[in-house]
Formats: sequence, structure tokens, C-alpha cells
Amino acid sequence: MKIVKYPHPALRAAAQPVMAIDKDVELAAGRMLDLMYKHEGLGLAAPQVDLGIQLLVMNFEGDPARKDAEYVAINPVIVESKGTVNDREGCLSFPGLYQNVRRARTVKVQAYNLKGQLYEMTCSDLPARVWQHEIDHLAGVLFIDKMGPLGKLGSKKDLEKFIADFEKDKKKGDLPPGLEPRL
Ligand SMILES: [Zn+2]
Repeated sequence: MKIVKYPHPALRAAAQPVMAIDKDVELAAGRMLDLMYKHEGLGLAAPQVDLGIQLLVMNFEGDPARKDAEYVAINPVIVESKGTVNDREGCLSFPGLYQNVRRARTVKVQAYNLKGQLYEMTCSDLPARVWQHEIDHLAGVLFIDKMGPLGKLGSKKDLEKFIADFEKDKKKGDLPPGLEPRL
């Protein structure tokens, strides 16, 4: 398992709901948490590891020792959102790219955990931003789609570099030669 980078087509596909919380899902969540910590992220969505299921892992402190801040979310939904806040955001599929993105300040979310229990959480600011960013991934929506005109223009060079790197990776054989980018 590894993190795919923009413009890998897996990032643009809608993820399917998880129908059974089995060993495979548990194993995938564990591997995703390891990858997230290794890359010092706050969240990772299954499409980012080329897995088309509605599964997220998050740690709002970014600290593997802080298990209280660690969440696994299966089939998550935002049931309520309030306010707006514009703040810096990044994504493990866009290494080095940070831009302001407008998000709801507060969200109420529901999801299943690995034990198959439905839980609800209301949070604001950074955790709310992480939830919104990660849930977007499950619909093939990326933070570059949510940037304002300044952020979009400011990202142009980075995006061109990611697209060039994707083609290089195909030539090197790190990606299948026929894989089509999805911008
Ligand atoms: Zn992301």
C-alpha cells in the first residue's frame, strides 16, 4: 500500500460504501494509519491508497501516541455544518502544496468505527477541516477544487509539476504505462 499523488485517477473516483466491517477493512485501516503517521498527515482517505471504499483514518494531533485523537471512520457523513472559516490546508496526495480553503467552521459527523458502532462527533476548526477534507476524498473531490481564485492561481506551478511527475513515474514503471491522469 502506498499513497497515490495527483493526478492519479483513483483520487477522482467515487468510493463505495463499506458493506461489512471485516478483517480486510481492519487491515486496511491499520496500514492507512501507519502510512498517515509516516508521512506526518492528520488524515488519509482510502482513495488516496487506491482503495475505492468509504474509509478514513485521522489523528487531529498528528501524534501516534495520542490515541484519544485517533479516529477510524467508515461510511462517514456530515449531518450538519455551521459557519465558515478560511485557513491553510494541505493534502498527502499533493506533497508541499498548501493553500487557503474555505470550510465550514463546525460540523456534526456520523460514522461507524471498526467495531461496527455508529458514533457522532461535533467539532470545530482544525478537526472540522480534516473531516471535511477527508470526506470530500470519498466523492473524488480534492482541495484544489475548493480553493478560491487566488489559491488556484497560486497552485498552478505545483500542479504542473505533479502532472509532469506522474508522466515520469509511468516511464519509470512506478505507475502502469496506460494509466490516464484525471485532473
Ligand atoms: Zn487529502
